[in-house]
Amino acid sequence: MNANLRNCPQCGRLFAYSGRNLCQRCLRAEEDEYMVVRRYVRDHPGASIFEVSDETGVEEEKILQFLRDGRLEARGLKQLLECERCGKKISAGTYCEDCLKAMDAELRSVVRGSKKREPEPEEPAPRTREKMYIRSDNKPQL
Ligand SMILES: [Zn+2]
Ligand SMILES: [Zn+2]
Repeated sequence: MNANLRNCPQCGRLFAYSGRNLCQRCLRAEEDEYMVVRRYVRDHPGASIFEVSDETGVEEEKILQFLRDGRLEARGLKQLLECERCGKKISAGTYCEDCLKAMDAELRSVVRGSKKREPEPEEPAPRTREKMYIRSDNKPQL
């Protein structure tokens, strides 16, 4: 029973979805590419992504995706990714360590702030109690 049939975005084939959004065939192809890239990077530390792409025939975009996914560590590669926050060169992921730390701290402070928000002090508002007494003696003015 395959309730989860989808079209592979890569080749258009119908396949049973199993967590990865690619059909078996494309998944295996990607796996192969990954292995090739990984091997090349291991054997050629310091290679640029262009070189790797050139030598392995794997699209740069794919290689970048491996890096972003954290599957491929760019230890061998030059630092090719840029932190989305500050633009610093990083070797994996989306943000540099500094930004991760900063964002973590920000997040914490936001969470703390909203948790500990002090309730508005309920003032009795004494100013509305100004002297507003009405003259009870409606003396007609002379
Ligand atoms: Zn496919
Ligand atoms: Zn950064």
